[in-house]
Amino acid sequence: MQANPAAFHSEPVLPSRTVTRVFCPNGHNLLDVCYTIQGLAGIKLVFTDARGERGLLVLSPTLGCFDRLVLAGRLVDGDKISLACPECAAPLDVLGPCACASGDAGAPGELCLLYLTEAHTADEAIAVCNVVGCHRSSIRHAGEYIQA
Ligand SMILES: [Zn+2]
Ligand SMILES: [Zn+2]
Repeated sequence: MQANPAAFHSEPVLPSRTVTRVFCPNGHNLLDVCYTIQGLAGIKLVFTDARGERGLLVLSPTLGCFDRLVLAGRLVDGDKISLACPECAAPLDVLGPCACASGDAGAPGELCLLYLTEAHTADEAIAVCNVVGCHRSSIRHAGEYIQA
C-alpha cells in the first residue's frame, strides 16, 4: 500500500486561538454577545482596582488580541486588579504568579484562569495576567501552552 504523500507534510493541528466558551469557577458563561471585539463575543469580567473601585471590562476572546472595552471604572496601566465573574462575583482562580512586575508596587501579577470547559481544569483554560497592560497570556489545551 502506498503511503499518503500528504502525511509527510501534515502539520500538527493547532487548537483555535479564539475561544467560544469561557466559564467562571462556578460555571457561568463569561462570553457576552452584547459586547464584541473584532466582531467576536467578548469575555466580560468585573474588576476591582488597587483603590478598591469596581468596574466592568470586556476582553478579546482571541489570544494575542489585547483590544478591550471598559464598560465601567477605569483601568490604569501597571495597576494590579482583581478579576471576578459578573454573574456570581466569584474571583477567578489563580494559576500562579506572572513573570511581570507591576510598576511601582513591584508586586508580581497573577495569572488568572478562565476555564474553557465546565470541568474547571487548568489544562483547558486561558491564563491572563491581572496587571493592566501586561500581555502575558496563554491558552492551555490538554495541558499544552499556546503563548500569545
Ligand atoms: Zn460566576
Ligand atoms: Zn503579568
